[in-house]
Amino acid sequence: MALGKSSAVVIGSFPLGESDRVVTFFSREYGKVRGVARASRRPRSRFAGALELFTVGELVFFDTGRSELLRIDHFDVVRPLARLRESLERLGHASWMVECVNRLTGERDPHAALYGLLTRGLRSMEVAPPGRVALSFVARCLDQTGHRPRLDACVECGRRAPFPRARLGEGGLVCEACAPCLPGLVPISPAATAALERLRGAPWEDVIGTPLGRTEGELKTVLDAHMTRLIGMAPRATKFLREVRRLSKIAGDRA
Ligand SMILES: [Zn+2]
Repeated sequence: MALGKSSAVVIGSFPLGESDRVVTFFSREYGKVRGVARASRRPRSRFAGALELFTVGELVFFDTGRSELLRIDHFDVVRPLARLRESLERLGHASWMVECVNRLTGERDPHAALYGLLTRGLRSMEVAPPGRVALSFVARCLDQTGHRPRLDACVECGRRAPFPRARLGEGGLVCEACAPCLPGLVPISPAATAALERLRGAPWEDVIGTPLGRTEGELKTVLDAHMTRLIGMAPRATKFLREVRRLSKIAGDRA
């Protein structure tokens, strides 16, 4: 039975049986791993709150070799990142980030750069506008997982961008002449294309410190459509965020 250790982030969990929990981590050394935390749902569990979503810590596990699931020995909290769970908006945007990582990476496929990007993104979200942090993260996560859309030319005919009425498909931009022949494309304005280019290339602190203005909503739609194409379903976090917005609008109308 092999012992493993790594820095890791909790990216998901669900209950198992009476008192256990299956927890998904994204770890620096091993990439995405899933394991059973025995008795973690008991009141005086030794895991005591350590397995909350987005928590960064030091993971120690046993790999029995008999199952895909590891046996989690302990998880020592390094950064609880509790603020991400204290507002529904932060919770929704941070969930979108971890969903992206969860869906676009394979089990036990190490990706240290993506681990660094994820922990930096989650830390930034404690203090910076969550929508902007999430977009910056997802734009870079697509790049790092090999799904970087091409933005400098039409992927069908090779004509150089910009195009006044461009669309975005799986591989990248499609010009207005090629678009009618292709299904499932989403419109993207030249301003949003330029903003997306900046999100994935400019220094992180600059990106986080600069408002996106009117392109923010458009970029969320474009990146959501891109993720939906890649994972074969709309991200669950997007539905959650839509519901949060709807409820806060109702609350605002009543006030
Ligand atoms: Zn074209």
